[in-house]
Amino acid sequence: MRALVKKEARRGAIELQKVPKPSDLGPREVLIRVNRVSICGSDVHIYEWNKWAASRIRPPRIIGHEFTGEVVKLGSDVELVKEGDIVVAESHIPCMACYQCRTGKMHVCRNTKIIGVDVDGAFADYVKLPEVVLWKIDPSIPAEYASVMEPLGNAIHTASVANLSGKSVLITGVGPIGAMAIAVTKASGSAPIIAAEIKPYRIKMARKIGADYVINPTEQDLVEEVMKITEGNGVDVFLEMSGNPKALADGIKAVTNGGKVSVLGVYDGRIEFDMNLAVFKALTIYGITGREMFKTWHVATQMLKYKQLDLSSVVTHVLDFDDWEEGMELMQSGNCGKIVLKLND
Ligand SMILES: [Zn+2]
Ligand SMILES: [Zn+2]
Repeated sequence: MRALVKKEARRGAIELQKVPKPSDLGPREVLIRVNRVSICGSDVHIYEWNKWAASRIRPPRIIGHEFTGEVVKLGSDVELVKEGDIVVAESHIPCMACYQCRTGKMHVCRNTKIIGVDVDGAFADYVKLPEVVLWKIDPSIPAEYASVMEPLGNAIHTASVANLSGKSVLITGVGPIGAMAIAVTKASGSAPIIAAEIKPYRIKMARKIGADYVINPTEQDLVEEVMKITEGNGVDVFLEMSGNPKALADGIKAVTNGGKVSVLGVYDGRIEFDMNLAVFKALTIYGITGREMFKTWHVATQMLKYKQLDLSSVVTHVLDFDDWEEGMELMQSGNCGKIVLKLND
């Protein structure tokens, strides 16, 4: 089968190879024929071999974790899916034995293994996975959208900390997940939705998806603009998705007293912000990692099945699997939303 393999522990060193199809299914493992995959920022980090990738990944490794496909073979004890099911997968494989897994928090399992990072991933014609991470979806959901349900889940999870109906929201960073957060908050009845972004391509994307206001913080003062829009109140909810320390610090200034802050952005080392301001404004601050298993997946499924979300301006490119390198380059340029690669039908 075809597989995108990180061959060696250095920058680049990813190759489309012919490798043997996975065999020897364990009793609770499932073989899936992959239809579509989507390139994640972390795949680009693996390509570039940043600090995180170098510390975690032991090549050779088949990369990729955002995908959809069809169940083609079951281990002897599999109960959750059957042959022919169309599935997506939670990328974090829980151990099912630690304190968190045993108490209803397997999304923050202490022994999580990540697909395409710690075990072979989905950028291949077939992938072998434990049944616990699989999530059956309605076949009416277009494969291109199904393949981005994992990052969509990040957006849903980040936004889920607040009741959004009629609430003003600030979203800093309109990468693909920020863009999906605009769609999610819109579908949940938020108004106004204020996005902050500096790249021209993504400013356009934010407008297209339905942000009521898009602020470019290199040209305008973010806090001042938010205060103007919200008649001096500040926003009810602030979703930080950029990983930029200034965005977090400014966003906290732009939240109204008693408001909620939800942080998905990951920062390059330690950062500073005014904690006293957060204390005296009585803010609630959430750190968000991954998705909730499987609450978030259920919400994503319903929103897509009943067309509450229009991801057509988020999935900006659908390329052939063989053109994966073009996809990686586009991701590095930032001139794109989600990039989906087509493997099988
Ligand atoms: Zn991802
Ligand atoms: Zn665990």
